[in-house]
Amino acid sequence: MIIKPRGTSDILPKDSPVWQKIEETARDTARIYGYGEIRFPTFESTELFARGVGDTTDVVQKEMYTFSDKDGRSMTLRPEGTACVVRSVIENGLAGEAMPLKLYYFTSCFRYEKPAAGRYREFYQFGTELFGAETPASDAQVISLADTLLNRLGIRSDLKINSIGCKACRPKYREALISYFKQYEDRLCDTCKGRLQTNPMRILDCKSPICKEIAANAPKVTDYLCPDCASHLEATKALLDGMGIKYEVDPGIVRGLDYYTKTVFEFIAPIDRDSKTDEIKRLTICAGGRYDGLVEEIGGPRLPGIGFAAGMDRLVAAMKFSGREVPASEAPAVYIAPLGQRASAAAQKLIYDLRQKGVYAECDIVGRSLKSQMKYADKTGAEYTVIIGDNEIDTGSAILKNMKTSEQCEIKLDNLYEVITKR
Ligand code: ATP
Ligand code: MG
Repeated sequence: MIIKPRGTSDILPKDSPVWQKIEETARDTARIYGYGEIRFPTFESTELFARGVGDTTDVVQKEMYTFSDKDGRSMTLRPEGTACVVRSVIENGLAGEAMPLKLYYFTSCFRYEKPAAGRYREFYQFGTELFGAETPASDAQVISLADTLLNRLGIRSDLKINSIGCKACRPKYREALISYFKQYEDRLCDTCKGRLQTNPMRILDCKSPICKEIAANAPKVTDYLCPDCASHLEATKALLDGMGIKYEVDPGIVRGLDYYTKTVFEFIAPIDRDSKTDEIKRLTICAGGRYDGLVEEIGGPRLPGIGFAAGMDRLVAAMKFSGREVPASEAPAVYIAPLGQRASAAAQKLIYDLRQKGVYAECDIVGRSLKSQMKYADKTGAEYTVIIGDNEIDTGSAILKNMKTSEQCEIKLDNLYEVITKR
């Protein structure tokens, strides 16, 4: 048997309705915030991610699916969407249009990670990016978009925000971190030993328990912000307060990608309960921040940006865990059971006409007996059934049965559409 690669998933029809519900709600939320959809390639030049996401990040160092194409060019399956959007914005000249530019996307991402609950090698994201505004107002709007989406989905989450500073204040903070972590260098995990020189802020994001314990008392970025970054954070907080959006400032939020500046944020939600320990597993379901230097880094003009990505797989898990009723597959409005060959052709024509009008209708195509057709119709959850044989075709009328109430009535077959849609 051929099996799927580790860390990938098949999303089956029984699970699709909840995905579709999230996609529809996300699309609609993007609409009311004035975002347009962007789609981009599945693979890009490796250089885009090396430059955009950053050479020293876990994503670029360990997690990318990189390959040479037949011409020997290095290509990479996208590990995230923001760098792709920025590339597209620059390449298509969107940076020259009226600002703000607001874009959203649905995309799959590929990262070579150790698979676990909520952590896959191919996963799905809904993402938004806003360009051309550097104000705290734009931060507040982007955060409120994510908040609105989660509220509309009935997902209860905690919002954590932070500022990771800018080019002006980060070097001083970096020095403070290096001297703090140097004291504990022997105890840090091997990856963090390396991070100490290349990217000490990333140690704050390490998932190893010892590094987490050491990081708990590390200098806080909020004590090192320059006046501009500090007042930006305060103004953003005030706007969130004004909208009544609850948050906690958590100086430990640093994000896994290099391009972030100033405001960063995460929404954390319960997604699962451990069956042995009964412990509730909480994961980041949506994460983002401001990236004022990224467009320039990738070769475009100076253009500030801010966005987030929500992990679709985790939204699905969070929505199921929230206990809110998740949508089920749709049942046919009507199931037509034909008796004999002539009726079979007539049934095809009847459901063809209904389907032309957008009605979900079914008839037998397997060749079942009448008894097993009725059993099958019941299993599909069909609202109505109609049995047709030669007699029904000749008279043009048949018995319509309401499967829930078992009520029956005679109808003209020509009126089938009107009868079953008049509810
Ligand atoms: P984490 O800290 O969980 O590794 P990250 O910082 O790598 O997350 P981002 O690159 O910011 O994550 O991606 C945004 C969102 O995409 C995350 O908040 C999460 O919901 C989702 N996500 C990230 N990696 C995975 C994965 N391997 N499988 C499923 N979802 C993921
Ligand atoms: Mg990660």
